[in-house]
Amino acid sequence: MKKLQGVRLCRKSLEMWLFTLSRGCHSKSVRVAEYLVMTLSITHLGSGSSGNATLLTTDEAKILIDCGFSGRQLEKRLAMLEISPKELDAILISHHHIDHSRGAAIIQKRWGTPVQANFETCAKLGMDPVNECKIFEPLNRIEFGSDLSILPISVNHDGADNVGFIASHAGERAAIVTDLGSWNDELARHISECVHISIESNYDTKKLWNGPYPERLKQRIAGRGGHLSNRQTAELLSTATGKHTRSIVLCHLSEQNNAPHIAESEVLLEIDELFDGDISISKRDGPEFSHYLGQAEPEKLARI
Ligand SMILES: [Zn+2]
Ligand SMILES: [Zn+2]
Repeated sequence: MKKLQGVRLCRKSLEMWLFTLSRGCHSKSVRVAEYLVMTLSITHLGSGSSGNATLLTTDEAKILIDCGFSGRQLEKRLAMLEISPKELDAILISHHHIDHSRGAAIIQKRWGTPVQANFETCAKLGMDPVNECKIFEPLNRIEFGSDLSILPISVNHDGADNVGFIASHAGERAAIVTDLGSWNDELARHISECVHISIESNYDTKKLWNGPYPERLKQRIAGRGGHLSNRQTAELLSTATGKHTRSIVLCHLSEQNNAPHIAESEVLLEIDELFDGDISISKRDGPEFSHYLGQAEPEKLARI
């Protein structure tokens, strides 16, 4: 939270600076104003098998990607960002698993927030596809105001009609792709166009196979429709990251079969030479530090 407060203070000081500049130097104030409005923030409210939700915020929209916490828990986490659920323009659900959908229906009922998902996910959630759920199709872009669009892309997880999301804002893209199971060239191509990547790095292979899970569950997790191991995530990122990649967040780490330092070191081993950005781990309890498309707030200050 300290870091989040820090960002707010920084924004406030920029706004004050804009006011000062606008009285003396018109062209510079316009530059500052452009920087201020061209921002998409990506904030993980929590990640893992106990619940997933990611908040995307622009000047015109507030969108939740997945709603895997109870209604009360989601309200609590949003309140830490001084946001009410009634401010959300939509909840987009990647797939029906409870850790991605737990609170969607209750938030919709309590606050009238529209829920959007593809037909199969909507049906599996037991929601009416006409009255309770707005249906999207893979590769059909969803627009939110004039400054945010989100592209659902098909992924293999659990062999159902699951999706990941590519957000576009001010000519830049961010991937929010958890629960993948396996990856292909098309997924790598989508991710390679992104400056920010939030991606699952679910398990360490040794920990999984030597751990206490039943054999069938181990096979499901490691299968094509399960989750990505640290090694698979590292391989995918080694083909999809470059000098343009500014930030990577490793998400959905298994508490039983992984550890943050193992995931981070395995991924960094593959991509350290390829990109100069930041890498971090999304934890179970958020909200966490925000990542930005457009200009990162501290960078704005440095460049003006
Ligand atoms: Zn899942
Ligand atoms: Zn999940």
